[in-house]
Amino acid sequence: MTRTRQWLLAAHPNGRPLEDSDFRLTETELPPLAEGQVLLKVRWLGFDPAQKGWMENVADYVAPMALGDVMRGSGIAEVVESRHARLQPGDLVAGLTGWTEYLVSDGSGLEKCHPDLPPTAMLSVLGTTGMTAYCGLFKLGEPVAGDTVVVSGAAGATGSIVGQLARIAGCRAIGIAGGADKCRWLVEEAGYDAAIDYKAENVRQRLKELCPDGINVVFDNVGGTILNDMLAMIATGARIVICGGISRYQLGKMPAGPENYFNLVFRRATMRGFIVLDWASEFPAIRKRLARFVGDGRLTYRIDEQQGFENAPRTLMRLFDGSNRGKQVLKLA
Ligand code: NAP
Repeated sequence: MTRTRQWLLAAHPNGRPLEDSDFRLTETELPPLAEGQVLLKVRWLGFDPAQKGWMENVADYVAPMALGDVMRGSGIAEVVESRHARLQPGDLVAGLTGWTEYLVSDGSGLEKCHPDLPPTAMLSVLGTTGMTAYCGLFKLGEPVAGDTVVVSGAAGATGSIVGQLARIAGCRAIGIAGGADKCRWLVEEAGYDAAIDYKAENVRQRLKELCPDGINVVFDNVGGTILNDMLAMIATGARIVICGGISRYQLGKMPAGPENYFNLVFRRATMRGFIVLDWASEFPAIRKRLARFVGDGRLTYRIDEQQGFENAPRTLMRLFDGSNRGKQVLKLA
């Protein structure tokens, strides 16, 4: 019998920031392995702002969460015992492990980690994060060499990859992020052409200076006033990609829609949202392409690694105050 600690959902955090009391730490015993199953030991958990929406049951693209459910989330796990044909002890796999130290799985939804990159790449550049950046930019943004691409939430896990892919496509990439250190990192390490610190600068004014011919592709992770400022500066035929809206994830009351939406009419622009899972069948091919970009040095990614299973709730909260530097992960003992 294997005993494991688990974090359970204790409250739905609708219309307010996350609190410690939204989570409950418990301990349970796992059933013995049946034929076709593996026992997994979770090594890292990955964190995504969408997890708050899952806790609130605001999204209909995933099953609702009930109080008492194990917190849903991605992870990297090691096979420690196997009665499964495809998986052997020692294999490292990525999938929706949930917030647990150990779990029993029938292997469905698990991907083996990439052999040549650190395992955490499967939570970031080769995981949903990388897929989101790639699909949002190329399938909706349709960048053309010479375009100006502006990304909000640019120093985050997704945003930092979007800018680099835009550069690979021959575009100019401008990022908007909170804080001088993030903006410096965007330009010096992540290959952005320029960065705007929305906490210290006038975003609308800086966009005017940096995008004299307008913005061709907007990749928005944030919503709110930053989206409004970007809409004010779109070029004719612009594509506005709505990936996320983190500025509204903790609000009690939804803000009014962007004042500048009518620029879509004057500029004959399109604005589209997406759920990356709709392209799941293409992920293996996209993953290979992204791994090649990382391998040949054209694409870099940053991992923010916290430590200790007991810190899972606090690690999720880091996404909402901008503490994370790159993809937020938690290393378990
Ligand atoms: P992330 O960008 O690594 O982390 C979140 C960042 O958001 C923080 O570091 C912070 O950066 C910024 N932020 C937090 N509160 C903010 C606010 N009030 N105003 C402006 N910025 C704020 O997270 P990620 O995993 O890459 O996710 C980025 C976005 O993609 C999220 O909105 C997520 O929901 C979305 N997403 C969408 C899909 C899809 O299928 N559509 C899939 C995955 C993720 P600063 O320090 O710069 O403020």
